[in-house]
Amino acid sequence: MPTQAFSIHGHFYQPPREDPLTGLIPQEIGAAPYNNWNERILEECYLPNARLQNFSKISFNVGPTLFSWLQTQDPITYQQIINQERSNYKKHGVGNAIAQSYNHTILPLASSSDKIIQTMWGIADFNHRFGHPPRGMWLPETAVDYEVLSILSNLGIEYTILAPWQAEADNLDPTEPYRVLLPGGGSIVVFFYHRDLSTRISFSPEATANADLFAEVELAPNYKNHKAKNSQDQFILLVSDGELYGHHQPFREQFLSQLLDGASSTVGLDSSYPGLWLETHPATKTIRIRERTSWSCHHGIARWTGECACTPQDGRWKSRLRYSLNQLATALDSLYFDTVYPLISKPRTLRERYIHVMLGEIEVRQLISEMANQTLTSEQVWRIYLMLESQRERQRIFTSCGWFFEDFDRIEPKNVITYAAQAVRLARIATGDDLSSQALADLRHVVSPMTGLRADQVFSQQFSRTWEAEEHVSSPGSGFHPKI
Ligand SMILES: [Zn+2]
Repeated sequence: MPTQAFSIHGHFYQPPREDPLTGLIPQEIGAAPYNNWNERILEECYLPNARLQNFSKISFNVGPTLFSWLQTQDPITYQQIINQERSNYKKHGVGNAIAQSYNHTILPLASSSDKIIQTMWGIADFNHRFGHPPRGMWLPETAVDYEVLSILSNLGIEYTILAPWQAEADNLDPTEPYRVLLPGGGSIVVFFYHRDLSTRISFSPEATANADLFAEVELAPNYKNHKAKNSQDQFILLVSDGELYGHHQPFREQFLSQLLDGASSTVGLDSSYPGLWLETHPATKTIRIRERTSWSCHHGIARWTGECACTPQDGRWKSRLRYSLNQLATALDSLYFDTVYPLISKPRTLRERYIHVMLGEIEVRQLISEMANQTLTSEQVWRIYLMLESQRERQRIFTSCGWFFEDFDRIEPKNVITYAAQAVRLARIATGDDLSSQALADLRHVVSPMTGLRADQVFSQQFSRTWEAEEHVSSPGSGFHPKI
């Protein structure tokens, strides 16, 4: 009998809500009785799914910034998630979790060096947590282009997951993975998820009320008869946000558990996951992808650059925000290289390796001295450290959530402005150069269509607020790890 297998992939992620000055999440009234949405979703989703061992049964990725919060907030649930994945890794030599590029940046909109940083940081974060390298990587919003796929492949990633409409084909077979040939040579495997079943899981709660019925009525009929007759194995992948299971839809953690614990096997279906499937079923067909497409915007990636029907409001604030932050990122990079290059001959490598400091794997002083081309004074080390922290904030300003919704006047876009103010502030403390005038001039044109709030107002407010804390970080003598 040929194998008919399936996997459910959960993309677990939330917008970063931490205040960069305090590292804490402000009180969010809508999340009551919890302090904030992270805590509420932890109780409704991450914790019950971990208790049910669902993280050993599904394919999943957890955004690094969310994982970092979870590790501090609930180390027990965090460790359960890791352990459940590791049990598969030990058993099969391939785990069921995949990595995610670090800051949920829309990668086709990022510079080449940012694409590399985001990928390298995502891989390092995964390695740090799971104790083995990732085989697959989730691309934020599944936004893709060939350059991104080439970077993934060059860094050892074997596969990713995309929406079916991201394939350049009208008759895509959703029961097998494909190989995408890359421009500079090499290739990467893509699992295109099943469109109808993924939509049913995500948006039709009645379909997932009963796991036995779902297996029999929804899932089983989607395998291809002609393949079964020819003894060909088939693999169907269903994808949704992970928070669906318990948060967006109550009790669906139970649905997952029942579906994967017995409901599917009763109708003759095997539970697998992409990495494991590839071990015995290498992709045999090749396909091309449609560049600059995504899973949550049907207008390519317009949702994160300007106007499209996904957010039917005046979207000019989005393009202006993108422009302003691109300009700022370029200016911050110039300042970084001007400051660091005379002392460190490979400033790009230093920036890429900084993730190991962020993860606590190496002391920042050790990393800098390893990479310095001369003996540095403590003040020089201090300046480089501040510039690296500035670069870390500079990566955060491109978090996709800043552009996802229809209005500028809400927490996610305001947070990216907060991160921008913090990046400028740190660079100013390190170098004396103040990039805020140009940033303010650009951000003045980013205006909320709903309330008239302007981005330069948010920037000013955050920037003046941060000056209050500057005395604590303005000299290397004030301690090497201040709250910055
Ligand atoms: Zn759209």
